Amino acid sequence: MFETTIAGSLPKPAWLAETNKLWPEWKQTGEALVEAKRDATLLWIKQQEDAGIATVSDGEQSRQHFVHGFLEFVEGIDFEHKVKMGIRNNRYDAMVPIVVGPLRLKSRVHETEARVARAHTARRLKITMPGPMTIVDTIADKHYGDKVKMAMAFAELLNAEARALERQGVDVIQFDEPAFNVYMDDVKRWGIDALHVASEGLRCKTAVHICYGYGIKANVEWKESLGSHWRQYEEIFPALQKSRLDQVSVECMHSHVPIELLKLLDGKDILLGAIDVANDKVETPEEIAGLIAEAMRYVPKERLFPCTNCGMAPMRQEIAVAKLAALGVGAALARTRYA
Ligand code: ZN
Repeated sequence: MFETTIAGSLPKPAWLAETNKLWPEWKQTGEALVEAKRDATLLWIKQQEDAGIATVSDGEQSRQHFVHGFLEFVEGIDFEHKVKMGIRNNRYDAMVPIVVGPLRLKSRVHETEARVARAHTARRLKITMPGPMTIVDTIADKHYGDKVKMAMAFAELLNAEARALERQGVDVIQFDEPAFNVYMDDVKRWGIDALHVASEGLRCKTAVHICYGYGIKANVEWKESLGSHWRQYEEIFPALQKSRLDQVSVECMHSHVPIELLKLLDGKDILLGAIDVANDKVETPEEIAGLIAEAMRYVPKERLFPCTNCGMAPMRQEIAVAKLAALGVGAALARTRYA
């Protein structure tokens, strides 16, 4: 009970990439980069195991950014002529690539890191991928002329990669959809349908991670503008409750999400965000166990899986290690009290 997991990304070691950045430059090239990615994946498998994390991830050590790490493997995209686009409903501008032709996978996307991770851990393994709605919110279009059509085309590519990951022994496939908290009507109209296309035919656990973004300035300011009660989840949870996805990853520690909203996800596993990734202060086991106790008022305890609020990519490595340890100890404390 209260088995732990993480939202996905972990900091990259200084010998792999620039540190404390969302879009770090690699420090190696060619074969040396391949080796460095592999070594960093192993390092984080070990750190997660030592912290008592039950469902571990590759820590996204092999991708530069959570969306573009997937797009690099897709044919039909022009990365040479990026354009400036307001993303997440113009919360911030990003230089984004352009879809210029039919989308096709050039090759497998996460084959290597899944194989490395699977070979070195007996724990359950999660691999994350960007969700279709978040992808189409992070790329310009000169080919499809229709956002939904383009999202469904991406969803089919995600599904092909997800099925291949499942064949490699991956236990959880998670789609990251920070855009779900921004375009609530679109989630209901086509966002969940797109996730169903992406997860079609999978027998492993399927998850969706929805959050309010990393601790970057634009996100911190946006969060401040949302007031004291964040009710975005309230609009989309009833639709997610009816969806075929098994698990929903939600930001709860230090967020203004009214915790009773979790009851709208009746029947789903809740990956309960119990580690703040926008703050270097390490949570105490008492705080984490306290949050679990609160969530238990609305979610059956066997459906609660303590997790991080979001990815930890831009964080200092030693802070991330300390927060993973706190998550493990906090969940263990909850187990002794409430199991
Ligand atoms: Zn997130």
